[in-house]
Amino acid sequence: MALIEFSDKGLYCPIGNFFIDPWKPVDNAVITHAHSDHARWGSKNYLCHTQTKPLLQLRLGNNNYQTVDWNESVYINQVKVSLHPAGHIIGSSQIRVEYNGEVWVVSGDYKLENDGISGEFEPVKCHTFITESTFGLPIYKWKPQQEIFQQIQQWILNNQSQNKCSVLIAYSLGKAQRVLQAVTKVTDNIWVHGAIYNTYETLINAGWQLPLLKRVTPETTKEALHNAVVIAPPSADGTPWMKKFYTYSVGVCSGWMQVRGNARRRNVDAGFVLSDHADWNGLLQAVKATEANKVFVTHGFQSAFARHLNEHGIEAAEVKTAFGDEEDVQENNSGSTNE
Ligand SMILES: [Zn+2]
Ligand SMILES: [Zn+2]
Repeated sequence: MALIEFSDKGLYCPIGNFFIDPWKPVDNAVITHAHSDHARWGSKNYLCHTQTKPLLQLRLGNNNYQTVDWNESVYINQVKVSLHPAGHIIGSSQIRVEYNGEVWVVSGDYKLENDGISGEFEPVKCHTFITESTFGLPIYKWKPQQEIFQQIQQWILNNQSQNKCSVLIAYSLGKAQRVLQAVTKVTDNIWVHGAIYNTYETLINAGWQLPLLKRVTPETTKEALHNAVVIAPPSADGTPWMKKFYTYSVGVCSGWMQVRGNARRRNVDAGFVLSDHADWNGLLQAVKATEANKVFVTHGFQSAFARHLNEHGIEAAEVKTAFGDEEDVQENNSGSTNE
C-alpha cells in the first residue's frame, strides 16, 4: 500500500486515514495553506499550521481546527505527521508523512526565496516528493525580490510625480501582504480593497505587525486618494470600482508577467514579475534537495516538468489534481467572499 494515494477526493493516506488538501469534504484534512484551492469547505477536522488557522476561519468559518507549529510532530493513527515551512504565503507548509521508516513529503505551493513574511522554505529529505509545478517551464526565472521591490517603488514615485494614483494588483492572501514591505518605504498613504482589508484585519487580530492600511469605501474621497497607493485583488481590475482612482496607473504583480504578451493583452501599465511560487530552477533545486527517488508532479506544467526529471534520472510521474492557480491574473480572488 502506498503511503499516499491519489483519490477522487484528493491526496489520501490510507494508513493514517487522512487527506492532504482534499477537494471534497472528508473526516480528517491536513491543510498546507489557506488558499481556496488547497483549503476547502466541509471537512470534519482540519489540521494546519498555527498561522494558517485564523486565515481558514476567515474563509471557512468555525470548524474543528487543530494547529501545530513547524517541525512539531503529531501522530494520526500511527502515521507521523509534521509541517515544514514552504515559503509560499503566511503559514504555508509542506506536509511530511512517515510510517515504518518510509517518508513522503507533499509540498503544497512553495517558493525558495525568503520573502520576509512567509517563513523560509525548508528542504525536507524524503523517499517520495509530491511537488507543484505552477511555473514548471524553463522560461520562468525570477529576479531577487529586492530588485522587483525597487521597480515597484520607482513606479510609485513616477506616478506621484505625474499626480497619478498607483493601483497595484496583487491577490489578497500572500502577494498583498508581501508587496506592503516595498510600498511602505515610499508612502504611508495606502488604501486597500475590502477583500484585502478583511485579510489584513484577520492578521492584525492574530498579532501580526503590519503597516496601517485604509479600506476603500464609497465614502472615500478623491482628495484622500491623491498620490496614494491602492492595492486590489485581480478580480477588481477593470471593474467600475477602479473609476474612483482616476487618474491612475495599474501595475500587476504576478509571475505571469514574465510573459510579455500577458501584460499587453491585459492592458496594464506595468507588470512586476513577482511570484509566490518557485520558478523553474527553484523547482529543480527543491526536488534535488529532497533526495527523493520518486517524484509526483501536480498542478501546473506537470508533463513538461515530469519529463525533464525523467530525462535527468529522477523517476517522475504527473498527477491530475483539482488544485488551481491563485496567481492567475484572471482569477476570482480567494478571500473576496465579502465583496
Ligand atoms: Zn497557494
Ligand atoms: Zn497550489
